[in-house]
Amino acid sequence: MYAVVKDKKSPGISIREVDDPRPGPKDVLIKVLRAAICGTDLHIWKWNSWAESRIRNLPLVIGHEFTGIVEEVGEDVEGVAVGDLVSGETHVVDGTCYQCRTGRMHICRNMEIVGVDRDGAFAEYIVIPAFNAWVNDKGLDPDIAAVLEPLGNAVNAVFPSDDVDDPAGKYALVLGCGPIGLMSIAVLREAGVEKIFAVEISEYRMRYAEEMGADMVINPLEEDVVSTVLSETNGRGADIVLEMSGAPPALETGFRALTPGGRISLLGLPDEPVSVDVNNAIIFKGAVVYGITGRRMFQTWYQVRGLLNIPRFRDKIRMLITHRMDMADIEEGFHLLESKDAVKIVLRPRFK
Ligand code: NAD
Ligand code: ZN
Repeated sequence: MYAVVKDKKSPGISIREVDDPRPGPKDVLIKVLRAAICGTDLHIWKWNSWAESRIRNLPLVIGHEFTGIVEEVGEDVEGVAVGDLVSGETHVVDGTCYQCRTGRMHICRNMEIVGVDRDGAFAEYIVIPAFNAWVNDKGLDPDIAAVLEPLGNAVNAVFPSDDVDDPAGKYALVLGCGPIGLMSIAVLREAGVEKIFAVEISEYRMRYAEEMGADMVINPLEEDVVSTVLSETNGRGADIVLEMSGAPPALETGFRALTPGGRISLLGLPDEPVSVDVNNAIIFKGAVVYGITGRRMFQTWYQVRGLLNIPRFRDKIRMLITHRMDMADIEEGFHLLESKDAVKIVLRPRFK
C-alpha cells in the first residue's frame, strides 16, 4: 500500500509503498477513509527537538486522527465487525499496569501512541487493537468521524473527571483557539455556560471562535485579558479556564483570570518548562488544576457520541474542517497549518 512515511531523523517525509499491515488475533484491519493533520504530525515532519527525543522506531507511517471501515477482524475480536465505521483512539494501553487496572487507562504507564510509537493512519490501511476502534453510527459524516480524537481532547478538558462541577451557568475562559480550543468552545456552549471568553492571536482563527459560540473574542496583543474578564464578570473572574495554547503568557493569564475556587484544565503543551507563581495562582486561590492528556477511555468517547446527536454541534465541527486534500499533497497541508490559516485539514488516502 501507499503511505506517508517518516524515514530519516531529519526534516521531511516520503510518500512511498510499504508492506500491507496484517491484523493479529486482537486487532482490526481498517481501510482508511479520512485522516486529519495534527500538530504532532507537523513536529514529526519538521523534526523538532520533541520529535528527536521521542520518535524511536523508523521508518514510521505517521498520522493518528482517522476514520475508516473495518475490513478484517482478528480471531479473538468481539464488539467490532467487518463493515463498521470506526474512529481510532490513539492511545494503545497495556491494560495490566496499576493505572489501567484502577480505571485510568488514559495515563497507562506503558502507552504506545499510534503514528508515534507504531504505524499510523496516513496510509491506505491501518491495523489497531479492536479495543481502540470506536464504532460510530453508520450515518456519521466521515469528515467528522476523522476528527473525533481531537474533539475528545476538547471534551476531556471541559469534563476532566466524573465528579467535575457542572459548567452550566458558569463563566469560562478558553486560551488558544487552535482546533482543540475551538472545539472546546462548542462543547462549553452545549454545556450551558453563561459566558465564554476566547483568547487568540490569529485573526483567521478568531473568526471561528465566534462561530463556535464565544461571547467575546480577545486578542491578548491588543487588550488586557485579565481586566476584560474581570470587568465582564462583575469582578468574579472565570470559574472554568481551559489553557489550549501551550503559550506561557496564556498560562499565566489563565491563572490570574481564574476565580478563587475555580478550576483550570491544562491541555496546551509548552515547548519548555514554565514557572508558575504557585502561591497566588494555586494555593491561596484554592484552585483545582487538571492535567489533560488524551481522552478518558472511554467515558470521553460516550460524551462525544452524545454531543454528536445535536445537529448544530455537528455543523460546528464540520465548519472547522477548513481544507480537504489528498495524502499525496500533505506537505502543502503542513505549510498551511504552520501559517495558522487553517483549522482542521482532512486528507483522503489518494496517492496518485
Ligand atoms: P494549535 O497548537 O495550533 O493551537 C494553539 C493556538 O494557540 C493557536 O491558534 C495559536 O495562535 C494560539 N496562541 C498562541 N499564543 C497564544 C497566546 N499567547 N494567547 C492565546 N492564544 C495563543 O493547535 P491544537 O491542535 O488546538 O493544539 C493546542 C495545544 O494542545 C498544543 O499545544 C498541542 O501541542 C496541545 N495538545 C495537547 C494534547 C493533550 O493530550 N494534552 C493533545 C493534542 C494537542
Ligand atoms: Zn497500563
